[in-house]
Amino acid sequence: MLFKDYDLIEPILKALEEIGFEVPTPIQEQTIPLLTSEKADIIGLAQTGTGKTAAFSLPMLNNIDFQKDVTQALIICPTRELCLQISKDIEQFSKFIPSCRSIAVYGGTSISTQLRDLRKTPHIIVATPGRLMDLMNRGAIFLETIDYIVLDEADEMLNMGFKEDIDSILESTPDTKSVWLFSATMPKEVLRIAQTYMKKPREITVGSKNE
Ligand code: AMP
Repeated sequence: MLFKDYDLIEPILKALEEIGFEVPTPIQEQTIPLLTSEKADIIGLAQTGTGKTAAFSLPMLNNIDFQKDVTQALIICPTRELCLQISKDIEQFSKFIPSCRSIAVYGGTSISTQLRDLRKTPHIIVATPGRLMDLMNRGAIFLETIDYIVLDEADEMLNMGFKEDIDSILESTPDTKSVWLFSATMPKEVLRIAQTYMKKPREITVGSKNE
């Protein structure tokens, strides 16, 4: 199948054509038809370079209701660099969805610009866990309306000591949300998160499983 054969909204297909994405990668083949047609929690065992950013961003952009001015999706990832990369990819994929608002919030930079941008109520927030907690504690981010939460490079976030932040973030989002977790490895702590916060997650593996 090609991207154009998928049931994705026209502005996304147009953006993919412009970017030059024609053939989905194996992980995209597994996530896009599933996540655009039903509500599911998934665990994607995938490394960087497999196309996992589009694997979660495209169904997310397809499913969000951009007429509703509330934050509907949250992506958390371990580093500022990854945060900016995901944010840039989402901007490209949503180029022809004029009402789409997304924002990247990460540490090591002034919080005042991020506080100002958050007042415009973005549909999508891409964040590192520490800065997200800081903004939540300041009352600048409300997660009660979140429909989709992505944990990207979950094993890395846990290695970096974000365990408590991730627990707090997941506990602050509604039980009705979908959780899409991506990790290169499946250590005990990642399994604990899956067991605690996910509902019958489907496992999607790309390439060999990395123990
Ligand atoms: P990621 O694993 O999300 O970091 O993606 C790795 C690289 O593959 C990025 O440079 C993407 O732009 C590119 N990419 C992702 N999906 C596709 C696709 N279906 N066709 C061509 N390039 C892709």
